[in-house]
Amino acid sequence: MRIQDSFASLVQRSVTPRAAVPVPSGDTVELAPVTPEKESLIRAMIRKAPDELSRERVVEALAAYPLEALERVQAYGTRIEVYDFASGEAVPSYLPTLSNPDTLGAYNTKANVLGFNRSNLTPFAVLHEFAHALDMSMGEPSRTPEWRGAHALGANTNQVVRDYAKQDPSEYLAESVAAYLVPDQALVPLIERGLAEERGLGGLDERQYWQMHQNFCHGRLERVDGEGYRLVRELLEDDEVPAVAPLPAMNEDQWNQFLLSSPRPAAS
Ligand SMILES: [Zn+2]
Repeated sequence: MRIQDSFASLVQRSVTPRAAVPVPSGDTVELAPVTPEKESLIRAMIRKAPDELSRERVVEALAAYPLEALERVQAYGTRIEVYDFASGEAVPSYLPTLSNPDTLGAYNTKANVLGFNRSNLTPFAVLHEFAHALDMSMGEPSRTPEWRGAHALGANTNQVVRDYAKQDPSEYLAESVAAYLVPDQALVPLIERGLAEERGLGGLDERQYWQMHQNFCHGRLERVDGEGYRLVRELLEDDEVPAVAPLPAMNEDQWNQFLLSSPRPAAS
């Protein structure tokens, strides 16, 4: 009896993440409870979206962030936009790379706008891009020796949640924060839904899509990259960091003015 009990619990632990049945397209996957407080903060940051499902998907993903992080980024002035290029929407001048079908999301740090293409809108991408805004709103912790060291270590030893994290410390932070916020039990349903809806495939086949996301959850970040895990936890728990000066999100006119007045604008 005892052996059976402990064997059962062992099996239960070892098979997560899992999904009983594939998650059909259109369904919601809970990353964290969507409290009314979080939902109104997130919706206030969405400046445009083509439909309610897109708004819901942004809310679903960002609810995984602690309330303090949402408040900080909202106060920093970051705004979120979802475009439907398939329906002929124009690409905004401040997010020029977004129309590329392989671009999963973009953040213009100077215009302080996060952008997504509706057909690539996944929680993985939303969590990742928002982490860039959080980084900026906290005075770029990704530039500190701690984060740069963790990036160098992870990138050179392959101990990162996804290859893209090797790019630079800022991408390493965004990837690690995003993985941290995906609960283990949500990973498989999110991958299955992404495949069912053909979102964020960027030319990948099914096996490559699984492989790309295989470590993209909380427990796997902890196992694959303990240092990154520790840094993300500290970052999300740190409410002592003073707020940096707000950078209100620009519109196209403001961005065009900015381009004229600055010889080399930076967009990422
Ligand atoms: Zn990024």
